[in-house]
Amino acid sequence: MGVGSLIQLAFDWLDSAPAPAKPAPSLTASPTASPTPTPAVSPAPDNSPTHTPKSAVVIKARTALPEPHYKHPRANRQACLAQTWVAYEFKRARRRTIGFLVDADGLVVRAPKWVTIAEMESALQEKAVWVVRKLQEVQERQRQLAGARITWRDGVSFPYMGQQLVLRLDPSQQHARPAVVLGDTLCLGLSQSASPEQIRDAVQAWLMTQAREHFVARLNHYAPLLGVSWRKLSLSNAGTRWGSAKSDGSIRLNWRLLHFKPSVIDYVVAHELSHLRVMNHSPAFWDTVKTLVPDFDAQRSALRDELLPVW
Ligand SMILES: [Zn+2]
Repeated sequence: MGVGSLIQLAFDWLDSAPAPAKPAPSLTASPTASPTPTPAVSPAPDNSPTHTPKSAVVIKARTALPEPHYKHPRANRQACLAQTWVAYEFKRARRRTIGFLVDADGLVVRAPKWVTIAEMESALQEKAVWVVRKLQEVQERQRQLAGARITWRDGVSFPYMGQQLVLRLDPSQQHARPAVVLGDTLCLGLSQSASPEQIRDAVQAWLMTQAREHFVARLNHYAPLLGVSWRKLSLSNAGTRWGSAKSDGSIRLNWRLLHFKPSVIDYVVAHELSHLRVMNHSPAFWDTVKTLVPDFDAQRSALRDELLPVW
């Protein structure tokens, strides 16, 4: 009998994308509208844009234009929104409304075929302040992410179990243990001339040892509470998911979770163990998680929103 065929697998993807923008406001057309209806503005969400004067300039991309402040990589149009030049991607789509999407790439506007360019542009002006605010937020987050890349050297700090650990290179440690934590300092038994790669590898090796120890302790804490037993733990490496569970009881957890505070790690451990009871993300699954981590929603948000260092 094939070994893996009966094994179900639950993957839990790392959500490393910028926090999703609040649902983009859309302009809703009445279903009974005439062939070129004037789109009506849908009820404003709480962060809805304020309306700007419609006299704002909108120029097609081929004209000589100022360098846009925000530019989508597939930009095919450009507009001045709330005094900010934005080059955006415009697409025709099979949809009933005009949609605005802001993500790490920039602004995408989608509109159904029957909406004229002038109507689309006018709708965009109506949402100008909202769009520019979202573009600013996304850019700020990208900037923070870029700043989170660690340069591995003596004195650098990085998050460990929700606190900052300062790294010290201390060759005198070499013969005792490769690494030891003293207060908020991680002492590595490496010389000051160690290369960033050597330092990074040493920190990673230490983190992986800590991760295994901590994960096993937490798995053993939660498993009996759910009446499940786990069989095998593997550490995943720099992948794009936090964890996975197989119905045969094997659990995989990302060692980078050790950057988070213990309550967040507990949520991921509880999540994977809960998959040994419910192998999907149905309401029954979340009810199971909740018995272990009542405030799992908050932990889940922290997992998604906190900025982790880039290795
Ligand atoms: Zn899951």
